[in-house]
Amino acid sequence: MLDVRKNDTVIMLAGDDKGKRGRVLSVMRERNRVLVEGVNYIWRHVRPSQKNPQGGRVQKEQSVAMSNVMLVCPECNAGRKSTTTGTGRTKARVCATCGHAITAGK
Ligand SMILES: [Zn+2]
Repeated sequence: MLDVRKNDTVIMLAGDDKGKRGRVLSVMRERNRVLVEGVNYIWRHVRPSQKNPQGGRVQKEQSVAMSNVMLVCPECNAGRKSTTTGTGRTKARVCATCGHAITAGK
C-alpha cells in the first residue's frame, strides 16, 4: 500500500500526465485516490454565480488513482518505493532504494 500524504511530491506513472510531478493536495484514502496539484486537469462547466459572474469553463484538478502515482525521493530525485522503519514515534518513511527519509513538505 502506497503511503502518500498531503504535501508529498509524487510522480505520475500513467495517463496523460505520465512523468509529471506535483504536490499532493489531498488524500482520499477510503477511495484510494489522491488530488495532485497541476495534474489531471479537467474543464468544469459552471453556471454563472456570484463568485463567478461569467460562468463558463473552469479548469480544475481531478483526483487520480493512488496506484497511478509514486512518491518522489528527494535524494534519488525519482519516483521510488517507500518502506516504513521503526515503530511509534520513530516511525518514518524511507526510500526503498537509498534509505533516505521521505518527509512531507510544508
Ligand atoms: Zn532514494
